[in-house]
Amino acid sequence: MESRAAVLDAPVDSVETAPARLETIEVAEPTGEEVLVEIRSASLCHTDVGSALGHIPEQFPYVMGHEGAGVVRAVGADVTSVDVGDHVVLGRIACGSCRYCREGHSNLCRVRYESGGGTLRTGAIRFERDGEPIHHYHGVSSFTQYTSVTEEVAIPITDEIPLETASLLGCGVFTGAGAVMNTADVEPGSSVVVFGLGGVGLSGVQAADLRGATTIVGVDLDPAKFDLARELGATAVVDPTEVDPADAVRDLTDGGADYVFDMVGDPGIIEHAVEMLRPRGTHVVVGSIPGAGSVEQEWGKVMRSELRILGSFNGSYNLGVAIPMLAELVASEKFTLTEMISATRPLDEVNDALREQQTGSPVRQVLLPGDA
Ligand SMILES: [Zn+2]
Ligand SMILES: [Zn+2]
Repeated sequence: MESRAAVLDAPVDSVETAPARLETIEVAEPTGEEVLVEIRSASLCHTDVGSALGHIPEQFPYVMGHEGAGVVRAVGADVTSVDVGDHVVLGRIACGSCRYCREGHSNLCRVRYESGGGTLRTGAIRFERDGEPIHHYHGVSSFTQYTSVTEEVAIPITDEIPLETASLLGCGVFTGAGAVMNTADVEPGSSVVVFGLGGVGLSGVQAADLRGATTIVGVDLDPAKFDLARELGATAVVDPTEVDPADAVRDLTDGGADYVFDMVGDPGIIEHAVEMLRPRGTHVVVGSIPGAGSVEQEWGKVMRSELRILGSFNGSYNLGVAIPMLAELVASEKFTLTEMISATRPLDEVNDALREQQTGSPVRQVLLPGDA
């Protein structure tokens, strides 16, 4: 099937060079465990920019995008979990049979990491341009009218929420909300600090509110995000260029917070989190730390105050369970996606979206491949 798609041929030094090429590719009809999905919305996060800049190793050329939602249009003979016409959000590759998948932690699936990327889980490549194979991106590839994924990636959701916003459930929401509701399992009455108020951070703020946290402090370098953060549940906001964030957090939380979430991946936040936590408090590392990611830490205080430091990857979620659950929260209006969308664009504006992601301060931008 022909599909208009955003293809990246090689890593670039700057996304200012408009590296994505809008091209017509061929997407093969699904066989075996494959599912053909018509993409209705696809959103961007920093990972898309990181891959374009070569910070994340990828197989080039590839069809871009790792957050998508759409409708199943065809399935291979071995597919059992979705049918034609189902509304789906695209998750991540999971083999279902490695130790971590069997234990319900498919976010840590070994096959996902050992596959080397660039293909479906099965090793197949189902995109072509003029007879040349084009790689898949993280087993998803959503910046295209049609994509091909293995069936565990196409996760059925309620058809009660609009597909035009549902792509947010395919990365930022499960990452941020999962860190709060699943990794840390925040209790009612807790005090929570969220560093970074983009799509991941605001999902964390909403989840903390949903969990009944009574103090929710949002921290960001961009005060333009503060109004939305308050609307979504933050009880206080802190601009670290104006005040010392550790002092501010201690003032707001009666001496120290129960939880500090670093949604940014900043070594400075990790180093200073111990100053913001009460004894037995928990620091959750969610953002991806660039490079080797080594940080100084006051380990004596970690020991004496019985602090806990947790990593959270994909919200510690088994996405086949988590994404339908999060979609139900949206359908019952306990969680909003619409408010986190800062721009909606046709697929042809993918380079503008990449530039904005890199240089601006969007919460979430959504591409509509149907409008290409
Ligand atoms: Zn993402
Ligand atoms: Zn696995």
